[in-house]
Amino acid sequence: MLCVKNVTKKYGKFIANNAVSFDIADSEIAVLLGPNGAGKSTIIKCICGLLRFEGEITLGGFPNKSLEAKKILGYVPEMPAVYDLLTVREHLEFMLRSYKIEDDGTADRLLERFELLDKKDKLGKELSKGMQQKLSICCALVHKPSVVIFDEPMVGLDPHAIKQLKELFVELRESGATVLISTHMLDSVESYWDKAYIMKDGRFCAEKSAGDTDGKSLEDLFFELTESGGRA
Ligand code: ADP
Ligand code: MG
Repeated sequence: MLCVKNVTKKYGKFIANNAVSFDIADSEIAVLLGPNGAGKSTIIKCICGLLRFEGEITLGGFPNKSLEAKKILGYVPEMPAVYDLLTVREHLEFMLRSYKIEDDGTADRLLERFELLDKKDKLGKELSKGMQQKLSICCALVHKPSVVIFDEPMVGLDPHAIKQLKELFVELRESGATVLISTHMLDSVESYWDKAYIMKDGRFCAEKSAGDTDGKSLEDLFFELTESGGRA
């Protein structure tokens, strides 16, 4: 469960998020859509405890900056941040040790899924952008988080990884997790989203449930709502 209540984030005088509120339930996949600069990464960074903001955010009922909230959060940032001098395997070990979790084979299963198992001794700096992105996804999931946030996760991925990731989103939902995905790739989320939040100029201009689209595709809704300026 993720609750965002009346969150405003200013960079100096510029208002990047203006009184944003939304809830995502357990076993729900929400997509966050909006043009470049709409404020998607900003609200995600607020949720993940990386920015100061006005308002209130809770994860699983815990304030977002508490240890309890951090334990259940998985976050894939828009830019993969890998350590130059840790190997692929060491990245996952580092995550597991940070969360004080014993490896039950999840790390290797994730690496295999994203075709990184044969790269496990490569250093972070030796990885391509796509491989770094895949490692970033593995790191975000290895501690089995129950609130998982992906910021433009498909960028730079090959078709195999995109397919794996889409399956993973659905598996996460089946396992009861709360999933938030910011993306521009509307057709890649078309088949499994539950809720869509469309953001423009720091505000939500529309919220839709998958059962309430009058048969319109996400792409139709996106252009209708972001280019007309209306509120659905
Ligand atoms: P999105 O992810 O939807 O493309 P962002 O949340 O990254 O948008 O950015 C929203 C707005 O906030 C943009 O106008 C961007 O220029 C501005 N912004 C983002 N980060 C900063 C920052 N650190 N300092 C000042 N302005 C920022
Ligand atoms: Mg962004």
